[in-house]
Amino acid sequence: MAFLSFDNAFVRDMPGDPEPGPATRQVHGALYSNVTPTPVAAPRLVALTDELAKRVGLDPDDPDLAQVLSGNRLLAGMQPYAANYGGHQFGTWAGQLGDGRAITLGEVVGEDGGRHELQLKGAGPTPYSRGADGRAVLRSSIREFLCSEAMHHLGVPTTRALSLVTTGDMVVRDMFYDGHPRDEAGAIVCRVAPSFLRFGNFELPASRGDIGLLERLVDFCIARDFPALAGIEDLTERRASWFDEICAATATTVAQWMRVGFVHGVMNTDNMSILGLTIDYGPYGWIDDYDPDWTPNTTDAGRRRYRFGQQPAVAYWNLSRLAGALSPLFGDAVPLQVGLDRFVRAYEAADRVNVAGKLGLGEANDDDMALMARLQAWMQETSVDMTIFFRTLMDLDPAAPDPAIFAEAFYDEGLRASNRPALVSWLADYAQRVGRDTLAPLERHERMRTHNPRYVLRNYLAQEAIDRASEGDFGGVHDLARVMSRPYDDQPGHEAFARRRPDWARSRAGCSMLSCSS
Ligand code: AMP
Ligand code: MG
Repeated sequence: MAFLSFDNAFVRDMPGDPEPGPATRQVHGALYSNVTPTPVAAPRLVALTDELAKRVGLDPDDPDLAQVLSGNRLLAGMQPYAANYGGHQFGTWAGQLGDGRAITLGEVVGEDGGRHELQLKGAGPTPYSRGADGRAVLRSSIREFLCSEAMHHLGVPTTRALSLVTTGDMVVRDMFYDGHPRDEAGAIVCRVAPSFLRFGNFELPASRGDIGLLERLVDFCIARDFPALAGIEDLTERRASWFDEICAATATTVAQWMRVGFVHGVMNTDNMSILGLTIDYGPYGWIDDYDPDWTPNTTDAGRRRYRFGQQPAVAYWNLSRLAGALSPLFGDAVPLQVGLDRFVRAYEAADRVNVAGKLGLGEANDDDMALMARLQAWMQETSVDMTIFFRTLMDLDPAAPDPAIFAEAFYDEGLRASNRPALVSWLADYAQRVGRDTLAPLERHERMRTHNPRYVLRNYLAQEAIDRASEGDFGGVHDLARVMSRPYDDQPGHEAFARRRPDWARSRAGCSMLSCSS
């Protein structure tokens, strides 16, 4: 087994829970609990991200990988722990949550000097499991594995997925919480990020009035995860700049979600990364027909708090909760309000860049933003596939705009016909706008190609791969991972992965309806 270089800064520098073992408890005055993964019966490595394995210093061909990446065997230097954090869930303060089924193995310093925290999801009970089993099922683990990597290759900041291991153990789940529990195959994903700190890590000590602990964590996070800020002498100024950076990073990531049509599904503050990474792939989904009101999460079906179009506003709300938690560290609210304002500006700027990219313009002015809004309203009215429409738009001839090129994008022929005049009129205005633009045709084409993916991880594609994997065939997972690693390239022979959602997938469990049960 390769020698990995660990620098476990979090457990070295932060206070831990003195009590050993996974018994459920409230943990005060400590930011984590030492806990080891519970061994599994028969670990089998079914998918590996080779490039990432090499980067952290693992040999992709090492026969012992399944043992290590299931938590059955610890390597020298690993100091496993579960983090203690709280969170606002669906708008309400939920108190202590913590890593109920995630266990960090250690912080690897890669050959590139980068920090890679290795964390197993589904590795068994921890003090934060709250009576649940600490395990994850295969379907959810496949979804996390595939989507982490798909997002990475789309250029969206995200935690990564190193490996997918089946455990050989069964796990009982009631998928829709409707009294139909059944046995499902267990699995473990090893995820990787420079830091897994969440807003909720800061909210919990603040909620308990433990300002000393909060301060220690903030200054640790700045030193480890935001080294560029270390040079700011004044402490309050440094902390204010840190909050500012968090706001800006969150804004750009959420803007990217909106660009590619990703719906997180459960944007609770415990699922918000301090680095602005997309984290905790649960009941997420991808937009097929453009609908800002859509949410994949059945648990959220009533209020649809986490629907696609609401994500920027929810991110702002979550940042406001973080600001509230941090307020005891600041004499007045001004620096925190400055950060929140930064979110608004950073989001608007990122959105503008995305609109320019999606429409193939040198820059997007206010009129262009209105042009995009008009298109989006039409798409919503007409039930048009977001990904296919934008990818096809780059083939439009501005000299002779032809609405027929979008034939593949429609879900409803009746709406297509009745809304055709609006499309013709929009295309005419767009063609005129393109005619006045600074970009040359080839530049425009390239800009649109790199902002409008050909392939996204459509919910039904992931479900088809899951169905095959449930029969023991992981070929679908591998094929999908390969196609999604080049989302902006046309891949001859893989057209099927770029098709619009088939009718059968419209209301099938796993394809459009997901729950938090994973
Ligand atoms: P999530 O909805 O996945 O963000 O989880 C919310 C909280 O529930 C977190 O504290 C998780 O660690 C915990 N949790 C979710 N599923 C399990 C499970 N199977 N076992 C233990 N804890 C869990
Ligand atoms: Mg979570």
